[in-house]
Amino acid sequence: MNFSLKGRTYVIMGVANKRSLAWGIAKALDEAGANLIFTYLSPRFEKSVRDLAQTLNQEVEHFYECDVSDDQSIEQAFGQINKDVGVIHGLAHCIAFADKDDLKGEFKQTSREGFLTAHNISAYSLVAVSRAAEPLMTEGGSIVTLTYLGGERVVQNYNIMGVAKASLDASMKYLANDLGKQNIRINAISAGPIRTLSAKGVGDFNKILRDIEEKAPLRRTVTQEEVGSNAYYLFSDLSSGVTGEIIHVDSGYSILGLA
Ligand code: NAD
Repeated sequence: MNFSLKGRTYVIMGVANKRSLAWGIAKALDEAGANLIFTYLSPRFEKSVRDLAQTLNQEVEHFYECDVSDDQSIEQAFGQINKDVGVIHGLAHCIAFADKDDLKGEFKQTSREGFLTAHNISAYSLVAVSRAAEPLMTEGGSIVTLTYLGGERVVQNYNIMGVAKASLDASMKYLANDLGKQNIRINAISAGPIRTLSAKGVGDFNKILRDIEEKAPLRRTVTQEEVGSNAYYLFSDLSSGVTGEIIHVDSGYSILGLA
């Protein structure tokens, strides 16, 4: 069985800064010997991504702008990756967005626009980038997306992001059925709460963290590194029979009933 990712190439989407879960995944794949390609939302993030990449064991050569709300941007990014690199073996989709105003108060207040934005960027983007990446995965591949318990259960203030995560989870399963024929697997990691730029947008996020520390079976929150090592498993041959799955990396919190 091959544990190493040497000679394989992965696209990491969604590094904003060193706290990003995408960065945890990048570090784990770098350790495992994979070649990395980074995409970033806009020129505002380019320097931060390039600076971080310089701290890896490898010299990263490939950085591309890719705004997943824009089909042309996705087409351009993956077209260029195809020209520059050719074959890829997987993709980490670590992208979500919802308006801050929709991440507090009552879900019923969600506007049509807020509903559509969250679904567009946080769920449809997985469909669009998987479709764009598929022709590059000629040797088979693995796609990993990041989801959250708020898509399965009601989590205070998570609101529209929870509904978008439910859509992401279902999209991941339908994609697994489509892509399996090409030996492309796709899975989701349901990460426990970790303080990142996006997480800061969720109302009373500290309470969500405290709840994990008090009630989760492991009585602690999870780390970016633990998300990274589970992604490594999903990208490696160790998980060769696994697709369409949601793995909870959340200190066991999701097994609990209501307190
Ligand atoms: P983050 O803010 O570091 O990452 C979110 C990324 O999404 C950023 O890099 C941002 O630039 C990118 N993005 C937003 N809109 C985009 C667009 N239109 N095009 C391209 N990129 C866009 O925060 P994070 O917590 O690392 O989030 C990564 C993923 O992990 C998200 O899907 C999030 O929902 C999920 N997640 C986070 C937690 C947590 O507690 N932090 C828990 C479970 C799941």
